[in-house]
Amino acid sequence: MKAAVVRSFGEPLVIEERPDPEPGPGQVRIRVEASGLCHTDIHAAHGDWPVKPSPPFVPGHEGVGLVEKLGEGVTHLTVGQRVAVPWLGRACGRCEHCLSGWETLCEQQINTGYGCDGGYAEKMLAWADFAQPVPEGVSPLDAAPLTCAGVTTYKALKVAGVGPAQLVAVSGVGGLGHLAVQYAKIAGARVAAIDVTDDKLKLAADLGADILIDARTQDVGEELKRHGGAHAAIALAVNEDAFEAVNSGLRRGGKLVMVALPAHGTIRVPIFDTVLNGTSVIGSIVGTRQDLAEVFQLHADGRTRVIHETRPLEAVNEAIDEVLRGEVKARIVFDLGEGR
Ligand code: NAD
Ligand code: ZN
Ligand code: ZN
Repeated sequence: MKAAVVRSFGEPLVIEERPDPEPGPGQVRIRVEASGLCHTDIHAAHGDWPVKPSPPFVPGHEGVGLVEKLGEGVTHLTVGQRVAVPWLGRACGRCEHCLSGWETLCEQQINTGYGCDGGYAEKMLAWADFAQPVPEGVSPLDAAPLTCAGVTTYKALKVAGVGPAQLVAVSGVGGLGHLAVQYAKIAGARVAAIDVTDDKLKLAADLGADILIDARTQDVGEELKRHGGAHAAIALAVNEDAFEAVNSGLRRGGKLVMVALPAHGTIRVPIFDTVLNGTSVIGSIVGTRQDLAEVFQLHADGRTRVIHETRPLEAVNEAIDEVLRGEVKARIVFDLGEGR
């Protein structure tokens, strides 16, 4: 099978021929049909974060495909069933976090495409309990971006407690942001979408954003305040200044939800404003299996649109460059399906 491999940080990925991986107990092997390119995969390939993967590794945590082989003890999945393999490759199921509905915080978790090989390959392994069944009516090319971009932003909005008639700022309308806009609308909120390219702002408008803010030419904080200030700001742009800008546009009691993960990122949070305005800064990491099930259900019900453009896996390095140049409509998905 073919896989795109990070051999060393910052170097182009290499397409390798590898033997099909054998599922261990509790695992399944999947024939990948579609695999999304999340900006996190770029951070992984660059070794951007304090906790690093160990090259060589196969990135990708938006892999979707058909179960091909069951490992020992797997009884709830069947060969031929379509599943998605998210960032949360497995969690322990026994710790305080797992038991309280916060498996995403499990300290024993293994992350797909980071702590084990991921979806940039024709075949991949998954722990069966964390391989999410994809419902009928959700295509693999749509399911892929939902598996990280979808579940992460859906969860971020839950964490922010967004409700109807609130103003939600979505900072960065990329892979994550284009879905964040839609989940905020589903929650009944007014949405202010912020980006630095005309195409992304137009996309946000098409997806229902009520207010568009061009961070190149407008003062984000002032614009948000002009509309009363944001009840919640979802920080998805890979840029520290963008975090500070939306934080300054919160209304009293508002919440900044940090989601993007710029390399070595730190921001300055003014103590006086935070205290006097009673604002919060919250981190949010992906979502649980239940969150992903809800994301798939919303899509199966026709309530979300996934904007993707496909590439062959062989174009992985060009695809990464396109994302970094901000040229991608929303999400690139590697098409590994039949008839590609
Ligand atoms: P992306 O590259 O598709 O989108 C980023 C968007 O931000 C682009 O539309 C870009 O034009 C825009 N942008 C750039 N500078 C800006 C600025 N100054 N102001 C406003 N917008 C700006 O990336 P993505 O795949 O959506 O991922 C975004 C970030 O989220 C990455 O850092 C990724 O690692 C992180 N992420 C976090 C989680 C989590 O669970 N916390 C999950 C997935 C991804
Ligand atoms: Zn745990
Ligand atoms: Zn991701």
